[in-house]
Amino acid sequence: MRAPIYLLALLFTGSAAFANDPPTKPIKNVAVKEDAPAKEEPKSSKDLKDLKDSKALKDVKESKESKDSKAAEAARLKEAAAADELAAKIAEKLAVIRKEKETKGRVIGAPPLVRPYSLAPRSVETTAKNKKAEVAHEVAHWSYEGESGPLNWGKMNSTNTKCDLGERQSPIDIRDGIKVELDSINFDYKPVQFTVIDNGHTIQVNLSSGNYINVSGKSYELMQFHFHRPSEERINGKGFDMVAHLVHKDREGKLAVVAVLLEAGQAQEIIQLVWNNLPLEKNDPVKALSNIDLSKLLPAKRDYYTYMGSLTTPPCSEGVLWLVLKQPMEMSADQLAIFSRLYPMNARPIQRSSGRIIKESR
Ligand SMILES: [Zn+2]
Repeated sequence: MRAPIYLLALLFTGSAAFANDPPTKPIKNVAVKEDAPAKEEPKSSKDLKDLKDSKALKDVKESKESKDSKAAEAARLKEAAAADELAAKIAEKLAVIRKEKETKGRVIGAPPLVRPYSLAPRSVETTAKNKKAEVAHEVAHWSYEGESGPLNWGKMNSTNTKCDLGERQSPIDIRDGIKVELDSINFDYKPVQFTVIDNGHTIQVNLSSGNYINVSGKSYELMQFHFHRPSEERINGKGFDMVAHLVHKDREGKLAVVAVLLEAGQAQEIIQLVWNNLPLEKNDPVKALSNIDLSKLLPAKRDYYTYMGSLTTPPCSEGVLWLVLKQPMEMSADQLAIFSRLYPMNARPIQRSSGRIIKESR
């Protein structure tokens, strides 16, 4: 029995040392160990076998322990990675919330400076210079060419994913429309106050309230209009010199955009009025002294194409009702030249129509 006791003692001291137990145990073990002669060799073959078995047992135990500790380490690492990921997600979310707050704050105090489609308050005064700088910075995020151009809009910001992945994007090449008796668009426009702003992407005119359209029993209020050169939309492959987008919003916040195609010809009174009030600086709104009557920008014939699409600028949000008037309006070569000095090209390329239904007035 001496050998097994000795081995037991050895095993116990070893594991105790590894386990880094409190000092009471090793002291006890040492006592046990002293009882058993340390250097005595096993005498019989049975003893030898016992020793081997015991060693094998110890090896297995150790390897199992190391496996266990490896698994534990892996689990710990996995847990740490999950915690890191969670922390990153929280930080990301916080950044988004902070950004939203900032944007909200900006919109309350200032006119819609950021996007051609921003539908904001009608107040016209800029409150602070630093707000302007902030907005200018944001404006620099996307453009119509190069790395920040339309092909990369969807990758520039997580809110812009529709620009890449949407199946209801604008503009499109309008063709193969279904010719039907479309409800006429009822324009209820009158002279209102206006503010002109160069937002870094286009010239935009923000309007006081009072202008409405009614189409298919729904009423939308005109918020702003802006220009693109050349026209973003094409009709059977044909583009136009420019287009004016008249952006309307209903009570639920849904958008309806009336597109007025523009081509070189006679000077246009409303466009001249806007150009007369062009701001000297970007993001510095100019409040005009006179009123503007948008009914003068509309063609005599109000036949139109209609389809469901999106904003043509980031974030490319969908669910926008497009109403493209068939009859183009004219503007003079001089008026065209003035816009092209500021924006020689600010049109998003044609998007997939993906089997969308297009209807048109017969
Ligand atoms: Zn537009």
